[in-house]
Amino acid sequence: MSDKPIYVTEPFLPPLEEFIPYLEKIWESKRLTNNGPMHQQLEEALCEYLGVPEIALFNNGTIALLTALQALRITGEVITTPFSFVATAHALTWNDITPVFVDIDPNTFNIDPNKIEAAITPRTTAIMPVHCYGNPCDVDAIQSIADKYNLKVIYDAAHAFGVQDEGGSVLRHGDLSAVSFHATKVFNTFEGGAIICPDKKTKQHINNLKNFGIVDEVTVVAAGINGKMSEVNAAFGLLQLKYIDKALDGRKFVDSYYRSTLHEVPGISFLTPLDLEKHNFSYFPILVEDEYPLSRNELYFLLKENNIHGRRYFYPLISEASTYRQQSHINPSPDIALRVADKVLCLPIYPHLSIEEIDKIIQLIRQPTAVASSHET
Ligand SMILES: *Cc1c(COP(=O)(O)O)cnc(C)c1O
Repeated sequence: MSDKPIYVTEPFLPPLEEFIPYLEKIWESKRLTNNGPMHQQLEEALCEYLGVPEIALFNNGTIALLTALQALRITGEVITTPFSFVATAHALTWNDITPVFVDIDPNTFNIDPNKIEAAITPRTTAIMPVHCYGNPCDVDAIQSIADKYNLKVIYDAAHAFGVQDEGGSVLRHGDLSAVSFHATKVFNTFEGGAIICPDKKTKQHINNLKNFGIVDEVTVVAAGINGKMSEVNAAFGLLQLKYIDKALDGRKFVDSYYRSTLHEVPGISFLTPLDLEKHNFSYFPILVEDEYPLSRNELYFLLKENNIHGRRYFYPLISEASTYRQQSHINPSPDIALRVADKVLCLPIYPHLSIEEIDKIIQLIRQPTAVASSHET
């Protein structure tokens, strides 16, 4: 068997020589950051590609989330999901906000809107749902709860770049959405992120916050942060954008191949695809059910021994991390989220994953005992 490790993801990188002219322009202009020409071009290009009104680029998705919360002056408690990457809750904690974890819907792994109202207290100011694996939340149900209780909605849309429902990009939902352009995400600028905003005024406020709260040479209006994306990252984003549709097509192929072959494996199940205009196939989560001959962890380690590095996203739950467990006012981790976290395994998916590699993964999942016993002898 080939020894080349297969990771859960591998970044898409355009041909290096195509990046050189961008670097030459940066060298010529001597503009390295602070809303330079590449930054402006990428904001414009992304607004057009995504079909959203305004976008403010950031140096990463976490600072974008932190700043989105600051922009709306969120305080007190925020209702969120434990089934996500830790940055979701960390963004709240860094703003001195208490995360309140609500259970997920077993059919989507997104926050269950039916369980939100019971978690609202007089201190609740907002809801921060996650479009987990790029699958859109029940945005209408969430918005109607927000309207009823006068709460803001900030989406952690880190996984949702390029996803469209019948009305367009899912990034348009809520008061604000934050997206990540980290190396592991579908669209990457090495490190990077953005806030999608509804209007110019909000964007201007966010621009001030990401630049130390500076409005002009003599006016500082807030204790802002340095959240700016550099010209090199922005230039790379412009080049990536030329390839994004090709990259999404590559992911779609891998997704279909997995689905068509794995659906007949007893004990392996996966999420039913939502009815979407466009998905981004950012992850391929499977559930290892009781009927399967191995437990989720046994399968995870079996794949690892064979140099296939899936990831147990999202295990452990955020609410199980010691830093959140210590907060005594937080309720125990919700049941469905706990159960899914114990069964889920994200298989490798990226545009250039080869058929041979996918076949190797599928073969192991189909006949785990054959491999496991031959491994022992
Ligand atoms: C990746 C990710 C983030 C953080 O984004 P960075 O760009 O790495 O800071 C936040 N939330 C979720 C759900 C993520 O997957």
